[in-house]
Amino acid sequence: MPFDAWTTLSRVGEIAWTRSGGRRAVDAAAAARGERLIAYARAHSPYYRDWWRAHGAVGAGLAALAPVTKRSLMDRFDDWVTDRQLRRSGVEAFLADRANIGEFYLGRYAIWKSSGSSGEPGIFVQDRGALATYDALLSAQLTSAAIAGRYVASLVMQGGRAALVAATGDHFASIASWERVCRGTPWPNARAFSVMEPMPALVAQLNAYRPAFLASYPTTLAMLAAEKRAGRLQITPSCIWSGGEYLADATRRAIERAFGAMLVNEYGASECMSIAFTCGRGALHVNADWVIVEPVDRDFRPTPPGERSHTVLLTNLANYVQPIIRYDLGDSVTAVAEPCACGSPLPVIRVEGRRDDVLSLRAGDGRLVQLAPLALTTVLEDALASRRFQLVQTGPSRIVVRLAAHDPRERSEAWPAARRALHAYLAQQGLGDVELYLDSIAPMPDAHSGKLREVLTTNPEAAAS
Ligand SMILES: [Zn+2]
Repeated sequence: MPFDAWTTLSRVGEIAWTRSGGRRAVDAAAAARGERLIAYARAHSPYYRDWWRAHGAVGAGLAALAPVTKRSLMDRFDDWVTDRQLRRSGVEAFLADRANIGEFYLGRYAIWKSSGSSGEPGIFVQDRGALATYDALLSAQLTSAAIAGRYVASLVMQGGRAALVAATGDHFASIASWERVCRGTPWPNARAFSVMEPMPALVAQLNAYRPAFLASYPTTLAMLAAEKRAGRLQITPSCIWSGGEYLADATRRAIERAFGAMLVNEYGASECMSIAFTCGRGALHVNADWVIVEPVDRDFRPTPPGERSHTVLLTNLANYVQPIIRYDLGDSVTAVAEPCACGSPLPVIRVEGRRDDVLSLRAGDGRLVQLAPLALTTVLEDALASRRFQLVQTGPSRIVVRLAAHDPRERSEAWPAARRALHAYLAQQGLGDVELYLDSIAPMPDAHSGKLREVLTTNPEAAAS
């Protein structure tokens, strides 16, 4: 698609140009884009028009606008979007067909679904301008990693192999830019590997492919780092990229140490693919020219720098088809007042994300097999449509599943499909003996954060680092 390639390329130049002008240029670009987006949403999204009118927002300026929540937006999906050809019923039919994975809806929109950190299902529509922007932001991240002088991104540009290890079988946003990169022509030597593969098979495939670039979820990279330390994984990537999940600082350092390579981590969401990314110093910089992040308290009042916020209001300046304007994202964020030593003009935040556990289960032959949380959630999301769930490892070879339901009967009716899918996946990993139970209670959000962790372990000896 030459048009998209052009858009991405010109956006890469635009991003570099804006950022070279320092913080003032970045803020000015964001302010201008914010004004344009708000005017567009007021003119083309009946939902925003009604909501802002009802909440007395007058004049321009982001701070004057009432925050929105996923539930209220999803309840009025058809009024939220700005293209009257888009209908929730049509989008849901599109999502239901797996043949459409990676295809554009109506020939022009990428559609992603997500349960998000609140467990509330969401459907997210991205226009081509937004996709080009996410791709450009990814390029900017890799370029800045190269400018840090330690690693050379040109390795990839000049035909080095790039490997993406991801959930390849469903409509998830995670690492969508990489999937486009792998499918498109700019980097001919990019290949996608499935996160669902048993680890020994994945290790063998990666050893044969020898990627110079490795991209995946933090939990999967942590497992690959363990394989590298054990000497089974022999690849030597010069740069590693992670996204799609929360990355703890200790995990980042462990991955960098194991591979002796720099890790660029992207903090993103289905609502905005690329919110922030880590620099060479490990600080998380907001893409403040394309996204506005407002840390706020329970009453949506600004949280001062240095203080952990209750939630964060997100404004995605790149996507016009389904505007995200002062959207309650649910993540807890701390704004960092001090500028970063890397010299980037982009503001720094720290994020307390959702943390799913890597499970470590005992196989019939006594081996411990580690499973990435994203592989498990993919299996269950597939089997359960959009029903909420929680998977808890309670013993070395025992998993308890909690399903959201109106009553016990509905719960036990949903169970056989979930059980079958989970058992089939576990059997592929040599874990056919793992016992699966249906819990009588609904998924329980974390008592501290109020967020739903979908995969966790309460089995201390099995807990993986
Ligand atoms: Zn920095």
